[in-house]
Amino acid sequence: MNTVGHLINGEINNEGERRQPVFNPSTGEVSREVLLASRNTVEQAITAAQAAFPEWRATPPIKRARIMFRFKELLERNADRICKMIGEEHGKISHDAMGELQRGIENVEYACGAPELLKGEHSRNVGPNIDAWSEFQPLGVVAGITPFNFPAMVPLWMYPMALVCGNCFILKPSERDPSSTLFIAQLLQEAGLPNGVMNVVNGDKEAVDTLLEDKRVQAVSFVGSTPIAEYIYSKASAHGKRCQALGGAKNHAIVMPDADMDNAVNQLVGAAYGSSGERCMALSVAVAVGDDAADALVAKMTEAMKSLKVGAYSEASNDFGPLITREHQQKVVGYINSAEEQGATIVVDGRNPKVVGYEEGFFVDGTLIDNVTPEMTSYREEIFGPVLQVMRVPSMEAAMQLINDHEYGNGTCIFTRDGEAARYFTDHIQVGMVGINVPLPVPVAYHSFGGWKRSLFGDLNAYGPDGVRFYTRRKSVTQRWPSAGVREGVEFSMPTMK
Ligand code: NAD
Repeated sequence: MNTVGHLINGEINNEGERRQPVFNPSTGEVSREVLLASRNTVEQAITAAQAAFPEWRATPPIKRARIMFRFKELLERNADRICKMIGEEHGKISHDAMGELQRGIENVEYACGAPELLKGEHSRNVGPNIDAWSEFQPLGVVAGITPFNFPAMVPLWMYPMALVCGNCFILKPSERDPSSTLFIAQLLQEAGLPNGVMNVVNGDKEAVDTLLEDKRVQAVSFVGSTPIAEYIYSKASAHGKRCQALGGAKNHAIVMPDADMDNAVNQLVGAAYGSSGERCMALSVAVAVGDDAADALVAKMTEAMKSLKVGAYSEASNDFGPLITREHQQKVVGYINSAEEQGATIVVDGRNPKVVGYEEGFFVDGTLIDNVTPEMTSYREEIFGPVLQVMRVPSMEAAMQLINDHEYGNGTCIFTRDGEAARYFTDHIQVGMVGINVPLPVPVAYHSFGGWKRSLFGDLNAYGPDGVRFYTRRKSVTQRWPSAGVREGVEFSMPTMK
């Protein structure tokens, strides 16, 4: 049995007693074992990162960026291998895994601009012969804790930026699909990153708690479910750390009566069922304005879903793959059952798919539920499966009210041909990432990613310009060189520009 270990100080460490199986969700079989780091192992990684920091901090940003250029090339050269690893452990079909990797690479490309991104701010003559500037210095050792659903992309939201800013990094990936994440980090060594600057510790709560409690860790980036995000944020803050913790979601699409319905249906099918709905930006609720729009939507969705193809990751013609674990598959089926019990209509039922040759895989097929209401459990909670729920409301205001009342505020979208309605929606919706006829409005690498309400705890979003600010500390310097004028007299009042 292959073991997935840790990367500490440039070396793979396969020692440790605690371990857990990693499944191939397409077959239901155990494919590997992952080590679960002890407190002591995590402390070794922190010590290695701390030791590497002074030299790395002093390395000019252009040299750090050159390592990222080489890293990008290595990611592209190894793309097929990485996507196969993602498929084996996550179940994602290769075309989808390739999309995830590409979005990750775009963050590496952004980090290649480090010398420009780290330029400070300078003001000459803020007072007589006085200059002032702000510079952006690295924090030291920083940590990232990531979820299973994007084992390549979400870590790449974090460490390329943290590293080019001059920090040393410790990544604690998801223990459910750790292989691609570890492999990618090893490519950084090949790209020339000094030992100890980037470390990976696999593990569970014990590893996470060690990172949160250790005084040497200055900042924590987290992406995962909301209960854990809230825990991470409170604990990291209580230990004096900077923290950004991105949580779960319930992303609504409003379908207006004037929408191009064929386009809306195409977009919804991809955004609801792609990656089996295991995306924090998946559209999981379609809010149809008016019964005519709702009837047309449900009829066209039902037709479109006839050609959906669920199956193993290895078959490129499949649209989406299995769920991550048997337990999660059962949870998703449980949500569909609860919607039915609470009075919703199951229009397309994906609870018992037949995937020939993969009978033990963790599959749920595309499911469409109509007449969903706000009290239903399946509406209040995040399902994280291939399930689209349709709600019927009389007006755009009522649709927006639903979205604004929901505890999550990650992404949303409006399908309409009316620019005025779209503008009003953008202005007043309480959600961090908004699409206008764009179902998955994931910001590009040179913007920043983050939801509102209980989808993000912290002040700064992930990657892009907010990433630069998160991984650096502003230092403001005010300078005056002694001259005849300065030496005259003592000033007791608060200095101002006279
Ligand atoms: P999760 O919260 O179960 O796990 C995330 C990370 O936290 C993992 O590394 C895990 O090992 C660790 N963890 C789990 N339980 C812990 C505990 N009790 N104490 C300390 N650490 C713990 O999330 P997941 O199931 O891996 O991922 C799916 C979730 O992530 C969904 O809710 C999804 O919406 C969310 N997500 C959010 C975003 C975003 O950008 N907002 C992006 C991707 C995924």
